[in-house]
Amino acid sequence: MPVAASPAPAQLELLAEEAMHCRECPLWQGATQTVWGEGPARARLMLVGEQPGDKEDLAGRPFVGPAGQLLDKALQRLGWPREQLYVTNAVKHFKYVLRGKRRMHKTPAQREAEACLHWLESEIGIVRPQAVVALGATAARSLLGQAVPVLANRGLWLQRADGLPVLVTLHPSALLRLRGEDREQAFLRWIADLRVAQERVRLATA
Ligand code: SF4
Repeated sequence: MPVAASPAPAQLELLAEEAMHCRECPLWQGATQTVWGEGPARARLMLVGEQPGDKEDLAGRPFVGPAGQLLDKALQRLGWPREQLYVTNAVKHFKYVLRGKRRMHKTPAQREAEACLHWLESEIGIVRPQAVVALGATAARSLLGQAVPVLANRGLWLQRADGLPVLVTLHPSALLRLRGEDREQAFLRWIADLRVAQERVRLATA
């Protein structure tokens, strides 16, 4: 059966399988595996991060490391089950530099994000979310096709050429770099951004 004629979960599964063999940029070489998105094939909201981190690369699942734990904590505070969201990344392989034995995150180059964009667009095309949250600058650029200053646009809805609304906010790893009261304040503000997205999809389906 052609991919487009299959039910959405099967389409996602087929594409995930295809992406496992992607060699369209050099990032696959150092990574353990492709990390595909996760969540309901007809989720109302999609969260898009930058790329898998060390833990995600090993587990083969998005947002399961420290940044993912912070996301889970925020969603718990919002009373928003993660199982209702489709969570993915703009870039599907982990980019890093070695420091001793540690693999330290390295921001993907624009050409790498561009090479990977068609996978993200395929996910959007299948899931057809009502709205998307861009977590950080790489996700915002991939989704909106241009550089978007995150701090100046956080909590705001921007619109893609196809009409899909995109809310821009920080990537949770940015919060993890803060300490003490600064982190707590930043966390509360981040939750407020996510609440804007939660309200939008709630109202759209009320
Ligand atoms: S990062 Fe994306 S484009 Fe590059 S090899 Fe992996 S899946 Fe392919």
